[in-house]
Amino acid sequence: MKTICAFFSALLFSTFLQAQTNIISTNPEAAQVMKGNYDPSAYTLPPVINDKTQIVNGINSLISNDSLHSYLKKLGSFYNRNTGSDTVSGTRGVGAARRWVFDMFLQYSSQNQGRLLCSYLQFDQNICNITQHRNIFAVLPGSDTAEKDITIIEAHMDSRCEDGCDTSCLAQGIEDNASGTALVMELARVMSKYTFKRTIVFLVTIGEEQGLYGANAFAQYVTDNAIEVRGVQNNDVIGGIICGYTSSPPSCPGPNDIDSLNVRIFSAGNYASTPKAYARFSKVEYIDELLPIVSVPTNIRIMTPEDRTGRGGDHIPFRQKGYRSVRFSSANENGSGDIGPGYTDRQHSVRDVLGKDLNSDGILDSFYVDFNYLKRNAVINGVAAAMSASGPVVPAFNIVNNSSGLSVQLTSALPETKYRVSVRRDAANYDLDLLFAFADTTAFRIPFVKKDSTYFVSIASIDDNGVESIFTVEKTAKALGDGPVTTSIPEQLKEEFTSFKLLDAVPNPFRGSTSLFVKMGECDPSTKISIRVFDIIGRQIQELTVNPVNGEISEVFYDHQDRGYGIYTYTLVLNGNMIDSKKFLVTK
Ligand SMILES: [Zn+2]
Repeated sequence: MKTICAFFSALLFSTFLQAQTNIISTNPEAAQVMKGNYDPSAYTLPPVINDKTQIVNGINSLISNDSLHSYLKKLGSFYNRNTGSDTVSGTRGVGAARRWVFDMFLQYSSQNQGRLLCSYLQFDQNICNITQHRNIFAVLPGSDTAEKDITIIEAHMDSRCEDGCDTSCLAQGIEDNASGTALVMELARVMSKYTFKRTIVFLVTIGEEQGLYGANAFAQYVTDNAIEVRGVQNNDVIGGIICGYTSSPPSCPGPNDIDSLNVRIFSAGNYASTPKAYARFSKVEYIDELLPIVSVPTNIRIMTPEDRTGRGGDHIPFRQKGYRSVRFSSANENGSGDIGPGYTDRQHSVRDVLGKDLNSDGILDSFYVDFNYLKRNAVINGVAAAMSASGPVVPAFNIVNNSSGLSVQLTSALPETKYRVSVRRDAANYDLDLLFAFADTTAFRIPFVKKDSTYFVSIASIDDNGVESIFTVEKTAKALGDGPVTTSIPEQLKEEFTSFKLLDAVPNPFRGSTSLFVKMGECDPSTKISIRVFDIIGRQIQELTVNPVNGEISEVFYDHQDRGYGIYTYTLVLNGNMIDSKKFLVTK
């Protein structure tokens, strides 16, 4: 595979630091709500649905792949959404596209008693010879102004061809980034039905392709107006599942590889950065709230770099101004077609379209964006933002390090009585490792700690509804003694990551072969983990070894061969003990 840094990215970052001027919100009410200057009762209209389970189930069931498909089709119909394209036409160009997004936000608002406040964020900046531009955003006011920090879900809407200012080419920009725009819109539609403690902002930017201008203008506006931000979730290239030839690393095992089971979260900084903490928070919320109820599991990969090599995105200007910001991107992407002649990848080219018409009947029948995958990513985003907007105050703590190992000592007085501790043991892996919960005490001794090993520890508070805060930044300590072992966990602890669980087979029913998934818990590396497959009368027909990774989803390939159709049982086995069982159906 070719891994080439697009020459255009050099231009992208060199122009990026120019400041935008005259940044205004066209809806003063939306601006006041973002600042926290409003009466929440004016927006908390019945039905007030603020129950965590109802919200999670609602987001999971109401986000529609058909809606997402229809938005992508419509966004493609504007032909060219370059930031310098036509602003006057009612059907073509960036002007028509942004008015359509704005009208859709208005529609979602009217379906929810006007609760969603729609606005443009206008700013002056010369981009492709147009000097004034508009982001579109919609504000869902929080029910409590005691904490004013907002959560932003965003995507850029502008598209481009090989020449960054070509406003006449076909630039449907479906993967990059109608996919993210559709995701933000669909979340605005569904989440407007619910009431969150803090304000959520749905933001669609322009000017990304020429230098992240729209996001920079919004980040500047937020800073200038002292608006507090809890987290920013940028979605860019979020619906495709097919590898191209030129995708920037780390991405794509090889051309035409297909992957709809992984999504990446990029974020800046080392383990102790606030963006990394927000990335891990998003993953924890997925594992806690969604994994038990979804039919197809997603593995969320916490990436080490801030973005793919040579590429950037709208989360960067927010991070530069000190906000927790992350980027969600597909695991696989069809890379840049703008590198030069001879490259056939789709992004930044006329080829970034919705799909192919295989039998020439004028109807697309093969799609480059997987609507179900896009839907799953929308649900993951929605639940992360919902929990961010609902959770309690982030706690503060110190690590006590002595011959009893490591203990967490709370240093802030909070009304919450429950806390969660995240412990990582590998400096090189920024992903989740171990999670523990404790309650009704201000100190907690961390299990599994081994003397002379280094640990990275952060904590979150949990409110009465079971909603947790964002995690603190991590603190590091090299243990002076051993901690307790799993078999003698103190009474007040609930060790949460030891629970291994079988997930549904995908596909199921199936012919030939399927994938079996295990939600992995904490275990000693010597633990023997396997899946045994039994026929209907209980005869074991196969035993498959499961890779011992901690706190991840492990996938095991199962080949049924010629064993006959019918219902089979598969069982997760740890050191000879059967832990969990499920069934699959083999069809004729
Ligand atoms: Zn993009």
